[in-house]
Amino acid sequence: MENKYDAIVIGAGMSGLACAIRLAMFDKNVLLVEKHSISGGLNSYYRRRNFDTKDFRLFDVGLHALTNYIEKGEKKKPFSKLLKQLRLKYDDFNLKPQSHSIIRFNNQDLKFDNDFETFKADIKNKFPDHYEEFLKLHEDILAFDELNLSIEYKASKDVLRSFISSEELVEMILCPLLIYGSAWENDMDYAQFVIMYKSIYLEGFSRPVGGVRTILNMLLDKYEALEGKLSFRTDIKKIHHKNGKVFAVETKKDEMLYADKVFSSAGIVETMNLCDIAHDYPIGKMSFMESIIMTDRKIKTDTFDTTIMFYNDSDKYSYEMPNKLYDDSSAVICIPDNYEKDITDGEGTFRITYMANYDMWKNLDKKDYKAKKEQVLNSSIELLKKQIPGFSELDVKFTDVFSPTTIKRYTYHEGGAVYGSEKKNRDGKTDIEGLYIIGTDQGFLGIVGAMLSGISIGNLYGLME
Ligand SMILES: Cc1cc2nc3c(=O)[nH]c(=O)nc-3n(C[C@H](O)[C@H](O)[C@H](O)COP(=O)(O)OP(=O)(O)OC[C@H]3O[C@@H](n4cnc5c(N)ncnc54)[C@H](O)[C@@H]3O)c2cc1C
Repeated sequence: MENKYDAIVIGAGMSGLACAIRLAMFDKNVLLVEKHSISGGLNSYYRRRNFDTKDFRLFDVGLHALTNYIEKGEKKKPFSKLLKQLRLKYDDFNLKPQSHSIIRFNNQDLKFDNDFETFKADIKNKFPDHYEEFLKLHEDILAFDELNLSIEYKASKDVLRSFISSEELVEMILCPLLIYGSAWENDMDYAQFVIMYKSIYLEGFSRPVGGVRTILNMLLDKYEALEGKLSFRTDIKKIHHKNGKVFAVETKKDEMLYADKVFSSAGIVETMNLCDIAHDYPIGKMSFMESIIMTDRKIKTDTFDTTIMFYNDSDKYSYEMPNKLYDDSSAVICIPDNYEKDITDGEGTFRITYMANYDMWKNLDKKDYKAKKEQVLNSSIELLKKQIPGFSELDVKFTDVFSPTTIKRYTYHEGGAVYGSEKKNRDGKTDIEGLYIIGTDQGFLGIVGAMLSGISIGNLYGLME
């Protein structure tokens, strides 16, 4: 039959690319389809024109940090598994480790870097009465089997509070993990917490030189070398199934593409909608906006060398969809220039992320939308002036702001929900035989998590079954 494949993978984001590579590696006739004209999904890149100088610039959509940092040669870690499964070389990522990050709550700081001892020592120093409690929690985390796909949901705050009697310490530990990976408001599933704790506090952050394009080009080259098929600008409008089994997908150009196995990274809500079946998966509430601010020069590292700051203006962290356009009581400030050893001259970059309300942004008219984005930019600049010593001495040369509606427009995720639905499909299965969920809504998220999701679900149902 024409247009018949062993498997079709929907979405050329991190999970879709990784899944398609695994299947192609084992000679499956696989087709990867992507709505957009480029790959990357939630972690892609875009072009913006500088109206003053008229030059074009490429920006990463998001990339603050690659989690799960390892040194070359380290084994049995999520990142080494990823390298092995996709047959990629460590050196090709050209990773620059972070200098360090700070969790700043109401002027109380906790510091962490890629050596867990730094975090431990800072907790001992700042929360001496709770240090032993923290060590007990840490033991529980190490003993937990977070990769068990059939594990029940458990609220992390309950677990953390059962060990640690300082509410502020509980909130501070949770803050980076929530904003870098929770679809739930004000809490996260404990299995997800353990994954994030290990990937951020135990392993740490790095950034590939060249940003997200370094990773995407590597994945695309690998897939091409395996002669995998990839079709951009191919928008799937329907997933066809009969007697509970998937058999085809249909494009917006009315083309039918046949396969008994379909791996979808479009999101669980979006995938169920494509199947035209009733479901109770809620649209995720957590969306964000980001200001990108470029200055005439980098901040001097002897003035300020923090890579990422998780800022919160009080003892309590509110991680929820704000009931206003954006919430500037907390923010993530990322300074990509402050990844270790970036001592080159040249312009500086600052990325400031706020939680934001998708529906409110969607309902603005064009004029208000522009004005409110300007307001966000000004708020971000004020925050940088207050939190980053030396920032005021730099000249702002170029700015850009994206909102939750930008995220929706370019990634097609309902509600601009960056971390997908609150309800995940950990085993990747759906009610339709042969249709599997990969990526964010399978429950592994972030760049490394999404790739590992594509690999493991691809292996489980595309290669072993
Ligand atoms: C602003 C921002 C900053 C971020 N920063 C970081 C960071 O610093 N570090 C980190 O680890 N993670 C970060 N993330 C999260 C990370 O990007 C995601 O968790 C990860 O990329 C998700 O990958 P995915 O494959 O699950 O899904 P997606 O990236 O959403 O991929 C899904 C793909 O499917 C395509 N698609 C959807 N519907 C259809 C259809 N009907 N037909 C065809 N194609 C379709 C989409 O176009 C998309 O390309 C960030 C996310 C955002 C938005």
